Amino acid sequence: MTTERHEVDLAIIGAGPAGLYAAYYAGFRGLTTAILDSLPEPGGQVTALYPEKLIYDVAGFPAIKGQELIDNLVEQAGQYDPVYVLNHRAEDLEEQAGGGFLIRTHRGTEVAAKAVLITGGIGTFTPRPLPDGEEFEGRGLVYFVPKLEVMRDKDVLIVGGGDSAFDWATNLEDVARSITLIHRRDRFRAHEDTVQKVMDSSVRVMTFTEVANIRGEDGVESVTVFNNQTDERETLKVQAVVAALGFKSDLGPLKSWDIEIDGRHVHVDTRMETNVDGVFAAGDITEYEGKVRLISVGFGEAATAVNNAAVHIDPEARVFPGHSSG
Ligand SMILES: Cc1cc2nc3c(=O)[nH]c(=O)nc-3n(C[C@H](O)[C@H](O)[C@H](O)COP(=O)(O)OP(=O)(O)OC[C@H]3O[C@@H](n4cnc5c(N)ncnc54)[C@H](O)[C@@H]3O)c2cc1C
Repeated sequence: MTTERHEVDLAIIGAGPAGLYAAYYAGFRGLTTAILDSLPEPGGQVTALYPEKLIYDVAGFPAIKGQELIDNLVEQAGQYDPVYVLNHRAEDLEEQAGGGFLIRTHRGTEVAAKAVLITGGIGTFTPRPLPDGEEFEGRGLVYFVPKLEVMRDKDVLIVGGGDSAFDWATNLEDVARSITLIHRRDRFRAHEDTVQKVMDSSVRVMTFTEVANIRGEDGVESVTVFNNQTDERETLKVQAVVAALGFKSDLGPLKSWDIEIDGRHVHVDTRMETNVDGVFAAGDITEYEGKVRLISVGFGEAATAVNNAAVHIDPEARVFPGHSSG
């Protein structure tokens, strides 16, 4: 088996807002990039946790839907053709004898880069799995819905009692043919007004209810659910299951790298450089006195990090990039 290998100027670990903006900025500085992410889609927390929510505090947008912001960032970065290495967790970071770094992913793909930018946010996300659902993952069972359209005219089962479950229910109501939401308790962790909105809608809400099994040939065709108080069973004809059971996040492999980490964060200096020469960080993952964890702050840090990485890569380059306006 041949190992997939990419050689770029800058490897960006994390395709959240900070990483995507960094990819644009690196392209603007004439650098080639690869963006790695353990998730199957770019967008970090925004795509995974709140794609349909409005964001009000990104400069220049009085209000913008999470996924729309991410789509714009992908388009902006796309001008410079970054290589996306998605569904790959960056596992090892090795300094090379002749300079530069080698990143190896959990699937064995290698990315060789002259500098590294860590935009790993709150770490890798692992969806809390639906027991016995593995067989249907990607075949009707999903953990988040980056594009509502994939649910058009489907009968959808949502599992969960938190904000995500209820947000999916409200957002999918006009798209799906029918929605059933099940939760193993009769209390919900979601905002009261969202719960009320769902209760007043066409969504069928079943409490004390859990999944017994999922059936289907090529994909999900039906799900049998049971009431955990009475053991009463019912088979629901659905073509899609959204398991909104939450995500676990963990810095994971980054903790074993040589970079200085404080709890779940990476120490950086005013150039956004870590204690390892040539390894920079930006976005939620950074730590310094007065740090504020917001998308807008991540954008600024990404620009600072990339401009300083450009000088690390070519010491003749200037930190100030010049203005982008044509
Ligand atoms: C519900 C909610 C609402 C929010 N609302 C707002 C808001 O209104 N305004 C605002 O400014 N902020 C908001 N935030 C915060 C905002 O989402 C974060 O500040 C932002 O997402 C941070 O961006 P980031 O690129 O630094 O990291 P993230 O978005 O966390 O992206 C990091 C990416 O790195 C990947 N990754 C991590 N480790 C690895 C590894 N080893 N290998 C490969 N990939 C890896 C992860 O999979 C992830 O995709 C909100 C957050 C939540 C949860």
